Amino acid sequence: MPLSEFDLIARYFRSAGPGRADVALGVGDDCALLRVPPGSLLAVSIDTLVAGVHFPVDTAAADLGHKALAVNLSDLAAIGAEPAWATLALTLPEADEAWLVQFSAAFQGLAARFGVELVGGDTTRGPLSITVQAHGFVPEAGALRRAGARPGDLIYVTGELGDAGLALLALQQELQLPAADRVAVLQRLYRPAPRIAAGIALRAVASAAIDVSDGLAADLGHILAASGVGATLQVERLPISPVLARHFHAAGGWVLPLGAGDDYELCFTVPAVHQGLAEQALEAAGCPCTWIGLVEARPGLRCLLDDGTDLGLAGAGYQHFGG
Ligand code: ADP
Ligand code: MG
Repeated sequence: MPLSEFDLIARYFRSAGPGRADVALGVGDDCALLRVPPGSLLAVSIDTLVAGVHFPVDTAAADLGHKALAVNLSDLAAIGAEPAWATLALTLPEADEAWLVQFSAAFQGLAARFGVELVGGDTTRGPLSITVQAHGFVPEAGALRRAGARPGDLIYVTGELGDAGLALLALQQELQLPAADRVAVLQRLYRPAPRIAAGIALRAVASAAIDVSDGLAADLGHILAASGVGATLQVERLPISPVLARHFHAAGGWVLPLGAGDDYELCFTVPAVHQGLAEQALEAAGCPCTWIGLVEARPGLRCLLDDGTDLGLAGAGYQHFGG
């Protein structure tokens, strides 16, 4: 007998375990009832993954369960929030139990790692689409907004850039990778690790932050536009993985680290007086970071090689509606 909508929700999306103390009422009623700690702002972010647009239709359910939550937690990280709750709107072509087992285990596994409780959602039939809303807390004065960058601030990025873009090239068969390299970069594409600890550590020290979902040049561009400033990147400082380094020329050189999305690292700016503090805070959070450029008063983004050549890639990045 096919699974009813109510059985499906009860089986796969009712929270296991005792749950969070700030959840007065979770999955199962008309609304969730939630407590925001006094003195905190509620940070809310939502993202949709549509089959055929954001992922190939045959993507593994476990990868989708992870990524749908991870991209939202990455937004919380980028504003300096501590994750608390999530809601999940799922549109499924059919109640495929094997798919649901894998999807919900990966979703709940990542949720558990960050102390996130799934408190509600919606389940409908239709072409596969996954919408997650994540909720977190951030102190009133601690949020890392896009608008705070000032001329003279240093620009940093966490981790390494371009691996997810390399994985896409491999999936689109534009590039053949050795098996081990392919596995490594597909992991970066499908299993991004939200930089929560880094975002929290940067609360007191960064002037602006964003997560790199559409490509460094495009996302840094959002910080620059919101802050009314420009910047110069020292492109050859951009951190890349040993895997990307091995396929650097075949993968188009600096195009991927500058222009490819889906890495979910944080790009942030730091007033020069806070440089030491920021580097110590991230080291204490166990998060590698690299200084990659400078905020300037002159508008626009300049992407310079060490010999002074401007790569002119500032407009690179994925946009759903062009422009
Ligand atoms: P309503 O008709 O009142 O919207 P639903 O039948 O849609 O109720 O949902 C019943 C309960 O199950 C609600 O608490 C809702 O939040 C929860 N729920 C539905 N789908 C999901 C899902 N995919 N994940 C988590 N909770 C869900
Ligand atoms: Mg509903």
